[in-house]
Amino acid sequence: IKFFKQRKTRFPAKVNISTKNLYKNYSGTDVLKNININVNKGDIYALIGKNGAGKTTLMKILTGQTMQTDGEVSLFGESENLNAGRHNIGTIIEEPSFFPYLSARKNLEYYRIQRGIKDKSVVDELLYKVGLEKTGKKSFKNFSLGMKQRLGIALALMNSPKLLILDEPINGLDPTGIVEVRNLLKDLNENEGVTILISSHILTELSSIATRYGFINDGKLVQELTKSELDKNCTNKIVLQVGEAKKALVVMTRMLNVKNFNIINDNTIEIYDKNLALKDISKAVISNDIELYSLEQKKANLEEYFLDVIGEGDVMRGGGLSA
Ligand code: ATP
Repeated sequence: IKFFKQRKTRFPAKVNISTKNLYKNYSGTDVLKNININVNKGDIYALIGKNGAGKTTLMKILTGQTMQTDGEVSLFGESENLNAGRHNIGTIIEEPSFFPYLSARKNLEYYRIQRGIKDKSVVDELLYKVGLEKTGKKSFKNFSLGMKQRLGIALALMNSPKLLILDEPINGLDPTGIVEVRNLLKDLNENEGVTILISSHILTELSSIATRYGFINDGKLVQELTKSELDKNCTNKIVLQVGEAKKALVVMTRMLNVKNFNIINDNTIEIYDKNLALKDISKAVISNDIELYSLEQKKANLEEYFLDVIGEGDVMRGGGLSA
């Protein structure tokens, strides 16, 4: 009983995916290193990393397409028998194969029969769900990439999974296709309660739908954070470096009514107030005989944040957020 209780607390049921010290080694190289990832029920979890970072490998381990070298995977709170959990997962990791000369309906019908699903209405429901119900006889080869992706998602949904694992489903889509797929995923998440783990090498691609983020670089999960934490980290700010930070702040509070700020160190201040002109700040500081070393507006830029997190922020440009 004690053992059972311990396992329960380690992987609470609201966690859909949890890994512990996960490693994957391919021919002598660790391509995943000590991954501890947590995807909660209801998340749209964006796994962000450059090509080769290890996203696909991690997803393949979760879906059972490859085995980890070391470490533990838990699905829906269960780490012993993963097969049960995997029946509740729909996935697109490698492109699903569809027959080029068949319609959306015929392609799905083929998979319905192959999977032994008796209920024929499933196909129509899926077509409707992904917005392909009006494609009629149009054959798959004439679909746009966005339509192809949506058909892939329909197939991933065929077994009514609680969790979708999608590897770069937005990659290569045109702007319309991107919006279509994003809207579909949002709808599935919000209205059907499907938890989604989705990967991309472009943070902004998923920033309008993701509720949580995991940044992966060189096989390591370098940061896991919620949407609101990311938003906070990406606020617009003015950063100034001065001779005396405290004195400069007194001046700016008095002359410019600066209210939201943070003294980073003796020489660095961050200001979060909006509508402040850089020239007014420099005038206020200099006219009070305080040395001004640098003054810059740092824009909220998600891609720069991503580069910063993975240690590739451009320090010279001053675009990173760790300054
Ligand atoms: P991409 O978006 O390019 O697929 P990724 O983040 O999904 O990138 P992975 O495909 O997981 O990255 O690859 C991570 C590393 O593991 C890469 O260096 C890759 O070359 C290597 N790798 C992946 N599969 C194998 C394999 N079957 N054998 C050997 N090395 C592999």
